[in-house]
Amino acid sequence: MATQAEIGVIGGSGFYSFLEDVTEVEVPTPYGSPSDSLFVGEVAGRRVAFLPRHGRGHRLPPHRINYRANLWALRSVGVRQVLGPCAVGGLRAEYGPGTLVVPDQLVDRTKSRVQTFFDGEPLPDGTVPNVVHTSFADPYCPEGRQIALKAAQGREWEAVDGGTMVVVEGPRFSTRAESRWHAAMGWSVVGMTGHPEAVLARELGLCYTSMALVTDLDAGAETGEGVSHTEVLRVFGENVERLRTVLFDAVAALPAADARACLCTHAHDGWDLGIELP
Ligand SMILES: [Zn+2]
Repeated sequence: MATQAEIGVIGGSGFYSFLEDVTEVEVPTPYGSPSDSLFVGEVAGRRVAFLPRHGRGHRLPPHRINYRANLWALRSVGVRQVLGPCAVGGLRAEYGPGTLVVPDQLVDRTKSRVQTFFDGEPLPDGTVPNVVHTSFADPYCPEGRQIALKAAQGREWEAVDGGTMVVVEGPRFSTRAESRWHAAMGWSVVGMTGHPEAVLARELGLCYTSMALVTDLDAGAETGEGVSHTEVLRVFGENVERLRTVLFDAVAALPAADARACLCTHAHDGWDLGIELP
């Protein structure tokens, strides 16, 4: 079906705009509207739903993205594995612009975001989610991570295997003091959208893999003027084609949903969720 997909990619239009036969699908959710329509097409014989994280024309700042609607919408059209490319700042001098990091850990420093489906609030259909405590010790899909790393390697782009992404509230960039602190903690990259995207994916039993493209050295790791948005856009633009190629190779290599060996779908074994997942 033209409106169904098995793999989701949360990223900008640079990833799907040139695909032929893309079907735009509006997906309402009990949590309101996602950032935009889903754009469903085919990559390497796999059905993929693309969702522009910030909406068309980058309308939504990181703290106003409806993360719950985004993940719910993806699952609603059949998605079970999600790749989340994003732009980040490097917290180490050796992670300069153009570095690709596939993190294995996450630190949440956001402040205002709803980060669970299981808050006891009734859904519009009257069902009420129970309070559920989700296992999140390893926030990313181990299978998806290895596939992303191999895909990058296959295109001679040696990605950094592992590391911690600290997610800040934004939309401002960090001060030098914050940035030095993040670096001193041993964290690798800083972003604004990685949380609660990953945890909400886990709550829906979806595999989630982050692919973080370093667009700048964060304020504490460089000695110039600090991060500027113009510079971020320039570096992202320079690397988007390469990232798209690696992303599509990863899409092709992901296992079929029912052939996954990871535990992502078992996050709620033993829990009564109180609601039906889409
Ligand atoms: Zn998984």
